[in-house]
Amino acid sequence: MVSLGGAGAVSGLRTSRFRDDSLTDGSRTPLEDETLRIRVYPGPVPLHVRLRDGLDADGAGTHWTGVHEDALEAVSDAVAQILSYARERSRFEDLEWQVERGESVRLPLSAVSRPTETVSPSLETVLEGFRDRLAERNALAPTSRDATATATCHLLLSWAPFNHRLGYGGTLSPTARVGADGGDGDGSTPDALTVANVGATERWDSRPVTRNMAIHEVLHTLVSSDVAEDIGGTRCDHDLGTATRVDDATVRVSPIATAYAGPDEFGGGTRFHGTGCYDHEEFHRHDGLEGVAEWEYTTELSDATLEATTRYLETIGYS
Ligand SMILES: [Zn+2]
Repeated sequence: MVSLGGAGAVSGLRTSRFRDDSLTDGSRTPLEDETLRIRVYPGPVPLHVRLRDGLDADGAGTHWTGVHEDALEAVSDAVAQILSYARERSRFEDLEWQVERGESVRLPLSAVSRPTETVSPSLETVLEGFRDRLAERNALAPTSRDATATATCHLLLSWAPFNHRLGYGGTLSPTARVGADGGDGDGSTPDALTVANVGATERWDSRPVTRNMAIHEVLHTLVSSDVAEDIGGTRCDHDLGTATRVDDATVRVSPIATAYAGPDEFGGGTRFHGTGCYDHEEFHRHDGLEGVAEWEYTTELSDATLEATTRYLETIGYS
């Protein structure tokens, strides 16, 4: 479903609907120093989803839907939070940021040639295919360039509602973090690749979960285990998150805790619970699950997340 669904040409780039001037059209321009770049790409979206979205004539040929617009806006908002947190503390005085639209990405057929993969490509397969496509476009920063100045986080918004192997998305080494792997001469890139399965979050949860998972998967590329440990006391990024009681029956969950804050069971918080490391006892704040019936999702980053991302960007050389 990731690569084969949908028809139609590459979407082209749309900028007019978005109000934030910090967004650009995603074309390759000479990179400036001290720019944190996040480029967001839609994967193919089935036509019925695009039509349901009420697209106009301009939009009908693209894979940017309202879902993707909301995810993009959420990521943009999250990055703005990090930079404003840092600047209030006189950190990152020079750093600029851009959240850009990339052209839609259709994964190479080779990435899904195995029968099982055609139905449900794994996270690894999706990320490999994503990387191949970006390499073909010459969109990955080469190792030889200054990793700090040029590193980009590439976020693929995948539409694969039934791909349980992909889950809600993720990152994998060696492209799991911005600026982490450049310069070692093994052909790696300082860019980070990450995927959020917005088809799944839309199908099984809600738009607030879609927003938070888009942010969540970008945040993973902006925190290292070492920094997570320094700030949160464990090497798990998820523990930087919060699940805060709003009232007796309601918990509000921040982006990095989304899909991890509920009980580890089907329908616990999000319909699909995240896998991998986390410990509610070690969360930056977790007010417990007793009597919780409602889950809310806020795009507001926890203090621990803000500090960890700021610290990580400092460790890779931003100032
Ligand atoms: Zn995660």
